[in-house]
Amino acid sequence: MRLCENLYIVGSGEYGISHRYDCSIYLVDTGDEMIMVDSGCGIEPERIIRNIEAEGLDPQRLAAVFLTHCHYDHAGGASFFHKEFGTDIYVSSVDVDLLLSGTDERIGLCTAKRSGIFDSDSHFSNCEEAKPLKDSDCFTYGDLSLRVISVRGHSPGSVCFRVSVGDFDGLFTGDTLLADGTIGLLNMDGSSLKDFRDYLPKLENEPSDALLPGHGVFTLSNAYDHIVKALEALKNLAVPRSMLE
Ligand SMILES: [Zn+2]
Repeated sequence: MRLCENLYIVGSGEYGISHRYDCSIYLVDTGDEMIMVDSGCGIEPERIIRNIEAEGLDPQRLAAVFLTHCHYDHAGGASFFHKEFGTDIYVSSVDVDLLLSGTDERIGLCTAKRSGIFDSDSHFSNCEEAKPLKDSDCFTYGDLSLRVISVRGHSPGSVCFRVSVGDFDGLFTGDTLLADGTIGLLNMDGSSLKDFRDYLPKLENEPSDALLPGHGVFTLSNAYDHIVKALEALKNLAVPRSMLE
């Protein structure tokens, strides 16, 4: 689905356009190369390809997949895109080992399966190659610019991407920040409320138009309202509203 001139959503379990375990998968087109944010879980990736082609876009132009973090629903499909199209796969340097050789236990998939989020036979596909990202790294594809913002909290390797091309200015937040100020705090190793307090204020400096989270509602304007809501909630004594609640 085309969301605005350069931006498409090409996968999402919640919106029913790809496998039900897929996070929201976004594609940004520069007119020449294309980049994708997150890859889905890796089951039925051909549905994502069909969605790309249905927009009249050639998946061979996919230059890179930028992963927000190494959880099953976001990163399990990376190996498919790397093998099929030779696409560069970028992930936080913190998560490179997980993506290349992490077990289902280490990436948190076993905990998620025990919680009933994924079927018991779900399995993470490791990727053969990955390029490491660190905070403030910048990338350029034609007129598109992308900057990496490391925001620990949901997981130690979670990053956000500030992307601009043409009139589009968006913040891709993965599971770090969802709409309405919801944060991605989990009761799981690596997820930390203190990290959210320490790192989320970095987004105060990122007043983008669009907020593109890995789950739930996205918005094409006034992203900053959602950022501020989360930051305000983190100042209160009560634990802020989190995903899965
Ligand atoms: Zn996650």
